Amino acid sequence: MRIGINCGHTVSGQPGCGAVGIIDESKETREVGNRLMTILKNAGHTVVNCTNDYAKSTSENLAEIVRMANAQPLDLFVSIHFNSGGGKGSEVYTFDGRRHAEAVAACDKLHALGFVNRGVKDGSHLYVIHRTIAKSMLVEVCFVDTQSDVDLYHELGADKVAAAIAAAITGK
Ligand SMILES: [Zn+2]
Repeated sequence: MRIGINCGHTVSGQPGCGAVGIIDESKETREVGNRLMTILKNAGHTVVNCTNDYAKSTSENLAEIVRMANAQPLDLFVSIHFNSGGGKGSEVYTFDGRRHAEAVAACDKLHALGFVNRGVKDGSHLYVIHRTIAKSMLVEVCFVDTQSDVDLYHELGADKVAAAIAAAITGK
């Protein structure tokens, strides 16, 4: 498969960076996303890194991510995020809430690691979902500002989280 992977936002502290709670979304999306890219490459897939580290604004960051994703044909585009706002667990956004096998599997496999399964949700309003040409999904691994989610994430480590998402993408 040809898979585009986006490690969430710009790097920590920059315009367009991710949420900061007990852990820092910008940092953890790279911990998980970079491992995910390695796993997929080692499995023989073509991986396009669609991560944008520096931008003048959130909108510039989003536009750059989509430009990188749409620069070549992809079978799947996956954006890795961590949630904030005090909820619990994992959720996956797709265009129109379509229950792609990869999206359902991402929820199931993160749930199998112990995260609450918040399900596949309508991400039509999300720029990287509605502007990418390829089939796309945005994975919110867990909440950066919920202690029990952070504890579980630390206990598992980014490797296991990345492996779960890789398995969901490849159907293995
Ligand atoms: Zn995010």
